[in-house]
Amino acid sequence: MLKPEGHAPSYYAATAHSLEAFPRLDGDATADVCIIGGGYTGLSAALHLSERGRSVILIEANRIGWGASGRNGGQLHSAQRREQSTLESWFGKSDAHRLFDLGEEAKGLVKSLIEKHAISCDWQNGLIHAIHKERYLDDMRQEVELLRKDYGVDDITVLSRDEITASLGTSGYYGGWREQSAGHLHPLNYALGLARAAKAAGAKLYEGTRALRITEGAKPRVETATGTITADSIILACNGYMHGLDPTTEARVMPLHNFILATEPLGDKATKLIPGREAAADSRFVVYYWRLSADNRMIFGGGETYGRHFPSDIKGFVRKHLLKLYPQLSDVRIDYGWGGTLAVTVKRLPFMRRLRPGLYTSGGYSGQGVGTATMSGTLLAEAICGEQDRFDVFARLPASAFPGGTLLRYPSMVLAMTWYALRDRL
Ligand SMILES: Cc1cc2nc3c(=O)[nH]c(=O)nc-3n(C[C@H](O)[C@H](O)[C@H](O)COP(=O)(O)OP(=O)(O)OC[C@H]3O[C@@H](n4cnc5c(N)ncnc54)[C@H](O)[C@@H]3O)c2cc1C
Repeated sequence: MLKPEGHAPSYYAATAHSLEAFPRLDGDATADVCIIGGGYTGLSAALHLSERGRSVILIEANRIGWGASGRNGGQLHSAQRREQSTLESWFGKSDAHRLFDLGEEAKGLVKSLIEKHAISCDWQNGLIHAIHKERYLDDMRQEVELLRKDYGVDDITVLSRDEITASLGTSGYYGGWREQSAGHLHPLNYALGLARAAKAAGAKLYEGTRALRITEGAKPRVETATGTITADSIILACNGYMHGLDPTTEARVMPLHNFILATEPLGDKATKLIPGREAAADSRFVVYYWRLSADNRMIFGGGETYGRHFPSDIKGFVRKHLLKLYPQLSDVRIDYGWGGTLAVTVKRLPFMRRLRPGLYTSGGYSGQGVGTATMSGTLLAEAICGEQDRFDVFARLPASAFPGGTLLRYPSMVLAMTWYALRDRL
């Protein structure tokens, strides 16, 4: 049996404000809603359901924020993971607009939760999208034009090659754009703040409590090694860490490992690199993403693996990507290197469903979970309280299973991903 684990040895765990310990669930309990998973999805659902007067038990197999929510790049993006032009071609203008609006609401929701619950998580406005191939610039200009004209976006500045070089301290990009309403935060402190808010609203949170199986009956029941929870509704909020709880979700939500390093504090050098302190993400298929921490470290993510294991030397694995953009950091010490597991879907849009009466699932945010997972918690709460409309905008999105089932999907995925990663270099 999998044993509960402590937080990954990351910069975030080292600078977490308070790692309040929650107890293990012992014995039999009942609640209106049982949530499985203590990341943004589960914590936001717990908070919003509790605020609506529902009794909530959330169980987390490890520590609150142990998964992707406590390890990610901390970037809060706008809209959805796919461009609006793509969403329009897939789903038509009307649904593309609803998806855009919910994505924008997600961004606003994160910022309003930080403010409302006084979550101290180093929020910083500004995000730059960097284009690494000259031939992508036309598509970028068209997308920006669409956003301005049809979606009323007014906080985008297009950056020339010289401007992006000056903004990011690297000559690796042909151009890009800056968004002022997007930005970045300390992801673990944000998760811990959500947990505090959910607890204050009345949710009961348990750590070291893994759901082993769900049994159907007049009311569904979640079994753990030391107890049971009987509830009217259950939410699966396990994202890339679900191991055998629900085959429908697992066929559509594929785990991927991604890696981050944090340098030593760079002092004045940091502000010379990124004077506006924006986060940055680039146009590579395996995205490079980076930002400065509040104490002036470079937090840089890049490199993905698809097997079962993390590289043995994560710092070295990510550093070679960092130095492609920032050779001037070759003499800088790398203080932390860690990995995490996110989850993607075939179309890179979230998978949200009511699987059967009383059983909900949400995951597969495809690298855009800071906003989308938080928002999914609100939508799950609405759906469980009988307001399906906004949840259904996502629930009706098509979601194919990855070919090969949970066993053989890895080899086909590795082939596909390796091909796309190769294209980054062509
Ligand atoms: C390295 C990395 C960088 C990323 N960068 C960004 C970024 O910059 N911006 C962005 O928007 N997104 C980013 N993401 C994605 C984002 O972190 C995720 O989409 C988001 O955190 C998902 O939240 P979640 O609550 O659904 O899942 P998680 O935070 O992964 O939480 C799932 C939890 O479920 C628990 N669990 C699993 N099974 C059980 C069980 N049986 N019983 C009890 N508990 C269980 C796990 O222990 C885990 O804590 C990144 C992800 C990674 C890994």
